[in-house]
Amino acid sequence: MAQLDLSGTSASMIKKPALQIFSLGGTIAMAPKQAEGAGVRPSLTADDLIKAAPELSDVADIRAETLSLKGSANLQFTEIANLCRRAATAQCDGIVATQGTDTMEETSFLASLLYDGTIPLVFTGAMRSPTQPGADGRANLMASALTALSPDAPKVSVVMNDEIHHPYYVTKAHTSNVAAFQSPVRGPIGQIAENTVYMHPVQPSPVFNTPTQFAPVALLSALLDDNGNLFDTILGAGYAGLVVEGFGAGHVSESIAEKLADIAQHIPVILSSRVRAGSVFERTYGYRGAEIDLLNKGLVPAGRLSGRKARILLSLILGLGSPNWRHDFSKVVKQV
Ligand code: ASP
Repeated sequence: MAQLDLSGTSASMIKKPALQIFSLGGTIAMAPKQAEGAGVRPSLTADDLIKAAPELSDVADIRAETLSLKGSANLQFTEIANLCRRAATAQCDGIVATQGTDTMEETSFLASLLYDGTIPLVFTGAMRSPTQPGADGRANLMASALTALSPDAPKVSVVMNDEIHHPYYVTKAHTSNVAAFQSPVRGPIGQIAENTVYMHPVQPSPVFNTPTQFAPVALLSALLDDNGNLFDTILGAGYAGLVVEGFGAGHVSESIAEKLADIAQHIPVILSSRVRAGSVFERTYGYRGAEIDLLNKGLVPAGRLSGRKARILLSLILGLGSPNWRHDFSKVVKQV
């Protein structure tokens, strides 16, 4: 495991590396704005964030820019594409993007598919806003800065609660715990302790061009005793693709299997699982509605990608008008 250790280094002895911070909002940037009881809202800029974390300047020269100031439910694919473009041309040694934690597993995954720069890009945020007791944003910023400046950092990662996660696997697994981020099965790819980054090197992942438009892709889940009416609406609703989160290793009821067979005649349909960890199967269960049947009906397996991430990948690939979307989709799935 490689390490970056800045703990015993005198700041005056070395030229500090340059760290670029791009902020996009989220709880890390939220403060109470109005009367008590009205809740916190995105209001702190990137400059506010770095002022509140003076220790950052011990390890780097900081540049900060606010790209947006919103709850992460409102972020759009194009904003992440813009972040990636900005990151790719930034003159610095490491980049930290701060945003809301609600969608960080999706934005970081999209960035891992789009970012073609060489400087590490780290996503972070906070589970507690700056005015709450035990606010975690400041510590997350510092841990992210150290990670972004580490020579072994992957191109894109998520750092929360002193753990480094790969965007392919990371998921928000708790609504409030500061240890909300997990990478099921795989685990974190590194950690930060005493200002030292401990990291497992990771394989570079495939990068795509940015489409002029992302294709709209729906995500539906298998549900017990569902009449499937929503599946009937998909072809008329303007979607270019569908991801279905099956039960278990990728199973749906017989009636929904028939609906999916019909949909797959018209648009790409991906089979993922509604279970948080593990791969969808391809050759074990042979009953109607199980994975062998569904793949024979034209569905494409998402492997270990969650439905949410499979949706983003398909949206990107279809947006690029890929002549062989199955191949491009599977290229990423094989790496996960
Ligand atoms: N609760 C969220 C957060 O942790 C809000 C958001 O995602 O913007 O930042």
